[in-house]
Amino acid sequence: MSAVVFDNVSKLFGPVRAVNAVSLRIEPGTLVTVLGPSGCGKTTSLRLIAGLELPTEGQIYIGEQEVTHLPANARNIAMVFQSYALFPHLSVLENVAYGLTVSRVPRREAHQRARSALAQVGLEGFDKRLPSELSGGQQQRVAVARALVLEPDVLLFDEPLSNLDARLRRQVRQDIRDLQQRLGLTVVYVTHDQAEALAISDQIVVMEQGKIAQLGTPRELYEAPRNRFVARFIGEANVVPAQLDSVDNTGLGLIRLADLQFHVPVIGQSVGPVWLALRPEALNLQRQAGALSIAGTVSTAAYLGSFMEYSIDTELGPLFVIDRNISEPYAPAAAVWVDITAHSVAVVES
Ligand code: ATP
Repeated sequence: MSAVVFDNVSKLFGPVRAVNAVSLRIEPGTLVTVLGPSGCGKTTSLRLIAGLELPTEGQIYIGEQEVTHLPANARNIAMVFQSYALFPHLSVLENVAYGLTVSRVPRREAHQRARSALAQVGLEGFDKRLPSELSGGQQQRVAVARALVLEPDVLLFDEPLSNLDARLRRQVRQDIRDLQQRLGLTVVYVTHDQAEALAISDQIVVMEQGKIAQLGTPRELYEAPRNRFVARFIGEANVVPAQLDSVDNTGLGLIRLADLQFHVPVIGQSVGPVWLALRPEALNLQRQAGALSIAGTVSTAAYLGSFMEYSIDTELGPLFVIDRNISEPYAPAAAVWVDITAHSVAVVES
């Protein structure tokens, strides 16, 4: 399995910079998701790896080889599409063996390898069925087997779960993750679903308007989002203005928020106005004031089975809070205190 490297890669479509000066390294054997809102350049980035688009500027490497101007068929890459793109008139086995027979692998060997790829995705015994005789999740697995059989250096997924219902999505995304880890595959996976990205990735690349907004592990992106965009895109966040009064030599900042003062680790921010991202599930609602709390009034309360969702009016504006205490919920108009904990806060750029 190979690394994928982008060195200052841009892709222009007329005046549109779909990918804008992106540099990144995807380590071999890791699963990296490219996450971002519609139109941020995710699919274009994937197509650049596949050779389905060629960059306007910069270099792309797969393993040791520079592939910048190599066409798709000269790269050892396989791609799984959102639509699966199975041939409806071919059996499951023939679909999976197709790429091998096109590359003139003898039919017998092609079928043997196709059978073992089907076994890897848990579809033994489905050889003779037509795609129309499979469920959506099974069709998705055939598409994965068809990619695996080519023994690619890198496996690319373009929103592979979009056509599945919520329950199946969770199952299939875990299947893909298990397979990736079992076979040590290098996988680049495009999605606009942050929960999917958090659940399966070694690293997440968050893109905004053709650029990398942040690259990191799911935990890094969630707990230390670099800017407001990432804080709002990964999970939910209340983003409020605050003041950074000082930073000590261990990187601990003294934050002033309303009339509260507390310490939070800061990375690279300088003293002055800053934004704080407050995670809704890390804020605690209390009936009495704590050491670090802000007074508020419940504006809306919603019961969601295993937790309550509140909107609390405070002097910082409305705060969105998730509370696991469902046995004694707060009623609208109740006076509450919103406790701020160190875990709930990240200092972000605007
Ligand atoms: P989505 O989640 O909606 O699929 P995306 O993040 O994958 O979006 P891209 O498909 O990479 O976004 O598109 C990035 C930008 O490049 C968009 O502004 C899009 O309109 C533009 N674009 C993509 N392909 C082309 C093309 N072939 N010709 C012109 N513009 C294009």
